[in-house]
Amino acid sequence: MSGDDARLDQLVELVVELASGRLDRRMEVSAAADRIDAVVMGLNMMAEELQALNGDLEARVTERTDQLRTAQQQLERVALYDPLTGLANRSLLADRIERAMAHAEHGAAPPAVLVLDLDGFKAVNDSFGHSVGDLLLVEVADLLRRVVHETDTVARLGGDEFALVVLDGEVERVLEVADRVIAALQQPVPAGGHACWVGASIGVCFATRGQSSETLLRDADTAMYAAKASAPGTVQIYEPAMHAAALARVRLAEDLREALAANQLKVHYQPIIELAGRNLAGAEALARWHHPERGPLPPEEFVAVAEATGLVTTLDTWVLDTAVAQLARWRETTLGDRPFGLHVNISPIGFRAPRFADTVAACLARHGVAARDLLLEVTETQMMGEDAQTLQSMEVLRSAGVGVAIDDFGTGCSSLTYVRRLFVDLIKIDRSLVTGVDRDPHQHRVAAAILAVVDAFGLAAVAEGVETEEQAAVLTALGCRYGQGWLWGKPLSPADMTRRLRATVHR
Ligand code: C2E
Ligand code: CA
Ligand code: CA
Repeated sequence: MSGDDARLDQLVELVVELASGRLDRRMEVSAAADRIDAVVMGLNMMAEELQALNGDLEARVTERTDQLRTAQQQLERVALYDPLTGLANRSLLADRIERAMAHAEHGAAPPAVLVLDLDGFKAVNDSFGHSVGDLLLVEVADLLRRVVHETDTVARLGGDEFALVVLDGEVERVLEVADRVIAALQQPVPAGGHACWVGASIGVCFATRGQSSETLLRDADTAMYAAKASAPGTVQIYEPAMHAAALARVRLAEDLREALAANQLKVHYQPIIELAGRNLAGAEALARWHHPERGPLPPEEFVAVAEATGLVTTLDTWVLDTAVAQLARWRETTLGDRPFGLHVNISPIGFRAPRFADTVAACLARHGVAARDLLLEVTETQMMGEDAQTLQSMEVLRSAGVGVAIDDFGTGCSSLTYVRRLFVDLIKIDRSLVTGVDRDPHQHRVAAAILAVVDAFGLAAVAEGVETEEQAAVLTALGCRYGQGWLWGKPLSPADMTRRLRATVHR
């Protein structure tokens, strides 16, 4: 029985050990193979089973913990990094700026923040599609990463806007970084098998003690806008006056919105002359705004503000409607059915708007004016590129009989794309090419070349800003069909234009 007692003690010990979690413990079965041994065997098997189950459970817990950790990292990435480029996003950027500012509190030099916007990104997107646009952004991100120090931060703010935080914002070092970025982006960037010329404008803000990351970013952004407005492709350092100017623009946009709603703008009309017979062929409608406090404002100023704030389409459709209504009245009172071309300026943004052609058609129908009486002038910009919406609007309008002219031809971005592909009816030769046409052999050659091309494609040209008889004579000799300028009259109020029309018609 004492042998049994010893085995029972062992058995009790085993149960205690198993219960405390030591699942690898076992007890040997004796030679007796009696009922105690049966219990021992049963216990051994249970322990085996428990040990296996426990192993499984532990493996599963490890696996789940790993999964949770990965998910958390992914969440962090989404929350802190831009998914397309892998650069820091706005919140991580703000965090890095704040950390750098905190270091500055302890004696380090305050950081500088650079905001960068690509100049030609929209053209790339429009011409090659969004997938190439995305590839381009990834390339630019890599390029920026290569240009900065490892301790600096590169972030994507959204769209084609990026930001850099340069620690130890010593002026020379920061400007060197900015210059390197500008230089790198002056080269074509490969994306999707295309060589894309984009260029960048950069605004820099040097932090001062206690500045928040928001104001730093805002001021760098303001400086970037100043660069874009005055000289795209350059670096501008933030000055407080820029903030004041930006505020003034916002205020002016508000005033313009109110003035448009209250019908406080006017349209003036500048005569367009057929050069051969010196007959009045039409007029260009030009917006005029007498600001309640600032007096008459140059259209360039408020058109630029309207373009920057999305108001320009409202402005243009208001001018269009007013001018077409005026033409309907002139047709009744003085013009009869004499040919007369009403020119209206439309910002490139307007042409890009969906259903733009419908707006124009509705306006003509509302006032009972024929499509052939209307000609829309649009300045060709780099942005217009090969925008599908613009080309479609042009096509719909032209097949309805509305004319399209390229404005300010010869001022930099003009290309022959539109002329060659016959998307337009008329070219307006910019005043800068007209001023010296009778004295400057170079300008004479350029004007002659443009007019030869215009003629070869069966189009017509208007020379803008003709001020002297000499200029008019040279342009007529070169085969320019129309002229416009102070020689034949400044833009006239509707009443003055009506008198002018009466005098012409009854001559
Ligand atoms: P633009 O379309 O090139 O219009 C011609 C500008 O040249 C007008 O300036 C006109 O007054 C001026 N001009 C005409 N003949 C002469 C001349 O012989 N000598 C000189 N020195 N200047 C002459 P304005 O009215 O100040 O308009 C400036 C610009 O503002 C326009 O240039 C046009 O781009 C824009 N603009 C005017 N009205 C509108 C509008 O309703 N919508 C849009 N989108 N832009 C407009
Ligand atoms: Ca014009
Ligand atoms: Ca023009």
